[in-house]
Amino acid sequence: MTASQTHSLRRLPSVDALLRSGGGMALAERYGRALATEGLRSALDDARARLRAGDDALASSAALLDTAAAALHAEVRGTLTPVINATGVIIHTNLGRAPLSDDAIAAVAGVGGGYSTLEFDVKTGGRGSRLLHPERLLTTLTGAEAALVVNNCAAALVLLLAALARGREVVLSRGQSVEIGGGFRIPEIMAESGARLVEVGTTNRTHADDYARAITPDTALLMRVHSSNFKQIGFVEETPLEDIARIAHAHGLYAVDDLGSGALIDTAAYGLAHEPTPMESLAAGFDLVAFSGDKLLGGPQAGILVGRKAIIDQLKRHPLARAVRADKMTLAALVATLRHYRKGEAVERIPVLRMIARPLDDIRAQAARWAEALGGTVIAGESTVGGGSLPGEMLPTALLALRPPSADAFAAKLRAGETPIIARIADGQVLFDPRTVLDGQEEALMAGIQGY
Ligand SMILES: *Cc1c(COP(=O)(O)O)cnc(C)c1O
Repeated sequence: MTASQTHSLRRLPSVDALLRSGGGMALAERYGRALATEGLRSALDDARARLRAGDDALASSAALLDTAAAALHAEVRGTLTPVINATGVIIHTNLGRAPLSDDAIAAVAGVGGGYSTLEFDVKTGGRGSRLLHPERLLTTLTGAEAALVVNNCAAALVLLLAALARGREVVLSRGQSVEIGGGFRIPEIMAESGARLVEVGTTNRTHADDYARAITPDTALLMRVHSSNFKQIGFVEETPLEDIARIAHAHGLYAVDDLGSGALIDTAAYGLAHEPTPMESLAAGFDLVAFSGDKLLGGPQAGILVGRKAIIDQLKRHPLARAVRADKMTLAALVATLRHYRKGEAVERIPVLRMIARPLDDIRAQAARWAEALGGTVIAGESTVGGGSLPGEMLPTALLALRPPSADAFAAKLRAGETPIIARIADGQVLFDPRTVLDGQEEALMAGIQGY
């Protein structure tokens, strides 16, 4: 170490001196003395390390306080924070899938902030069941005899396979032995649940006969997994649901459907392909259907099982049901979301559906307002549903397109803001889709983009 480096190290202020300064006292006031001390110590350690590495610019007290303040702010804020989704991907799994409706948010606050009737019957004053709260709405909306809500659709599958098929065979089309995403693979889930997968047919075509021929005394279920996140085109044949259910019942077996997204409305009404519904699977004779709460349904993360009462009762009694049970905040949000469907206001009130149904003119007008205020141009583009729903289906949209000197650097700056802004990059442009920007976030978005 040179003499000048040693001299610089000695001239750095002490933690105590920094804490006694105006800026230091403000930090202690805001974050508490212990955390402020830690932040200042770590800023000083960094400054020392830089000096030793040969950087001889001496950090001023003001710079040290700024460094500590930024680090403390980031630490206290944490890593799970709201973001502005300007990508146009409506059900963005990495960004938390479905934003909740106002009613669902209020319901979460209502039960989360105090005590509730989660497992309490106010009529008798005795014990109630958490499973009852969403059940009536789900049976009314889907026409099923009974319903059960668990942590997510993956958990629903583990539960149903363990309860109905452990140590036995599950017959599935080879074309449906798929990976859903996030490391979730049907063959592996089967193995973990103790069921034996029997693949029938070929990757592109499976006939009714293939199912019938695979049935043995060890068969527990015939299963369908909806190919929710990819599309096969060309010489393709899936066995109709009615045929699978008929063959199952002819052999005294159940037919079970993993629907994935599970829409409760007809997505074809909004210029998209038709996403299969639980009502259709039940009407085709399926005995049990599993789907997600936070995909096209537009609610909280949940796994929803609907079907025959005898089966649902069996699942409710299984020990794993306790391990995958839904939390009170999930149940409150789900009930509030389902109530929108019941009241016939789902498309107006549920953000996912409102975004899908939003008229192009409306989106174009918003993009034009942004361009007027911020510069850039409005170009035609496409939004997607995402979240493993409706693969390849696009909704025409209008985008604000900006061309900063470096698109990557600008996108990184947008992500570094107080409320990170997530945009798309294409051909050196940064693109903002108004479709997925929530009402309350427009101002923060504009402020974040300003001065690009
Ligand atoms: C998304 C999906 C799942 C998993 O649902 P989660 O609620 O995310 O656990 C299972 N099956 C299919 C077909 C899916 O699309």
